[in-house]
Amino acid sequence: MADKKNRKNNRNNNNNNDDDFNPRFKKIRKKVCPLCADKNFVLDYKNPDQIKKFINDKGKILPRRATGACAKHQRDITIAVKRARQIAMLPYTQE
Ligand SMILES: [Zn+2]
Repeated sequence: MADKKNRKNNRNNNNNNDDDFNPRFKKIRKKVCPLCADKNFVLDYKNPDQIKKFINDKGKILPRRATGACAKHQRDITIAVKRARQIAMLPYTQE
């Protein structure tokens, strides 16, 4: 019985600090919201050059993971893009 106990203890005493390292999770840099970073930045739906940064080549609105915007500003971006589409500054779709 004592032998069994010792073997179990040896297995648990392994130093496995290095097992915590997983290359999938290394150095994820958090993006800073471009609108929060620049306080003078005013999102203007009448300025297509500015809004174009937030749509892809198909004309779709980029997701937060691509724009890096915070929830509040992503909402503002979405509204600005939709307004710009309505006044024909931006396309609804491109093939
Ligand atoms: Zn923001």
